[in-house]
Amino acid sequence: MSLPLEVDVTLPDGTKVQQPTGLFINNEFVKSKSGATLDSINPSTGEVNSAVYAAEEEDIDIAVAAARKSFKSWKKSTGVDRGNLLFKFADLLEKNKDLLAALEAWDSGKAKYTNAIFDVEEAIRVFRYYAGWADKIQGKLIQNDPKKLAYTIHEPIGVCGQIIPWNYPILMAVWKIAPAVAAGNTLVLKTSEITPLSLLHLGKLWVEAGFPAGVLNIVTGYGAVAGNALASHLDVDKIAFTGSTATGRLIQKAASSNLKAVTLECGGKSPLIVMPDADIEQAVKWAAIGIMTNQGQVCTSTSRIYAHEDIYDDFVKKFADHVLAEYKQGNVFGQDSVVGPQISKVHHDKIMSYIDIGKKEGAKVVIGGEKNEEGDLKNGYFIKPTIFSDCKPDMRIINEEIFGPVVAVSKFKTDEEVLEWANQTDYGLGASIFTKDIVRAHQFAADLEAGMVWINSSNDSDLHVPFGGVKMSGFGRELGEYGLTMYTQAKAVHVNMGTIL
Ligand code: NAD
Repeated sequence: MSLPLEVDVTLPDGTKVQQPTGLFINNEFVKSKSGATLDSINPSTGEVNSAVYAAEEEDIDIAVAAARKSFKSWKKSTGVDRGNLLFKFADLLEKNKDLLAALEAWDSGKAKYTNAIFDVEEAIRVFRYYAGWADKIQGKLIQNDPKKLAYTIHEPIGVCGQIIPWNYPILMAVWKIAPAVAAGNTLVLKTSEITPLSLLHLGKLWVEAGFPAGVLNIVTGYGAVAGNALASHLDVDKIAFTGSTATGRLIQKAASSNLKAVTLECGGKSPLIVMPDADIEQAVKWAAIGIMTNQGQVCTSTSRIYAHEDIYDDFVKKFADHVLAEYKQGNVFGQDSVVGPQISKVHHDKIMSYIDIGKKEGAKVVIGGEKNEEGDLKNGYFIKPTIFSDCKPDMRIINEEIFGPVVAVSKFKTDEEVLEWANQTDYGLGASIFTKDIVRAHQFAADLEAGMVWINSSNDSDLHVPFGGVKMSGFGRELGEYGLTMYTQAKAVHVNMGTIL
């Protein structure tokens, strides 16, 4: 029996959803050509939420052709028209905020009221922000010689492929869709195979907003098949990727087929440094936000903490007490649940194996260090928030991305020592420092190898401010004006005023 293109679903909180299951191409939901499907699993229970159609190479060709056809007229649209459609779409997101948060909680294991709802709210703000930019994308007039003038046009790049991870399904997609569409590009976006549902739902709202067919196409599908077909496609002009560093390397290779423009937002192992003069209460609060938010499945998680020897014991104790008191694990539809399940069985097992590695390496378990077996939670992929102390620079839990609610705390003596440790990994996404000494704070901000530095906070993300990494955390920036420039290219026009040669 073939899968219907829409299924009626009642979510655990009673929300009723008519959930699309097809590939969203040309403003319609369609079956994959071969009929291939995949199952989206509920991480809270391990049960199948819904099957959806899975794109294969032929489907990617069709989606890219739709985007190419649409680009011919979309690139000629006015900025005001593009902005108005984006504003309208943001209004529709707002109207459907609760439903989208419920869908995200169900499919990705984010606690609805303390996590998923904030993603949807930020998505709305991001659309409004870039809607405002759509009619303000301007080139420059360049005049050196009075007998000649030159100007630049900031043109859209063309058909852009966008590949999204599972940890922030709506938000990571929106960070890419909004600037790209505002700048006049057309898109084929591939969801993670693990979390397709909320993004397919956006397709319905996209049609309702009134965008022309083919501007945004959303496909689900496996990375090695659909993702690779998109990244290597000869008629795609740019590929924007968020995901692991290992996949980022494959994407860059695949994109070399036609020398696509590439932006990569990859993994991280961000340090958080607590100096002896820091406000310990603040450091504790932000350190917890920095690692326990979204079950530690955040690329910028401050997953390594370096506390100065003078305040180390005090910090570790207060940090553990705070996490135990504030980071409650439970049903993701509960009002006070904060830490949900890990995204999948495979990922859960990977995190548990890192916890095992940490124990064997000699790190001390301060709290957690085990699966949560309480009540119904035992059916899902819940791991207790885990703090390791007494960590050493060569441990694997210090150098490798775990991507779970697991943090490694170390003691340091000198500024030189901690700077060297902070910069020792292959990653360079975020870095955080707590101190009241402003000179030291800014010196560290300059010397830390990271795309983003937080002084006296952690994981402070602001849609007006560029987001991205250095080293093997990727290149290119999202958000703010910098994010917009990733979706335009400058064409130079030279005008001979009649007197040159
Ligand atoms: P992943 O690399 O496994 O998958 C990401 C996406 O790439 C998925 O859509 C997947 O289907 C696709 N993919 C997989 N193999 C592919 C291939 N060969 N060709 C093309 N596409 C392919 O990552 P994940 O497990 O979904 O997400 C977790 C990772 O994402 C973590 O490493 C995290 O740090 C990173 N991340 C980074 C940022 C950032 O902004 N820097 C944000 C969120 C997540």
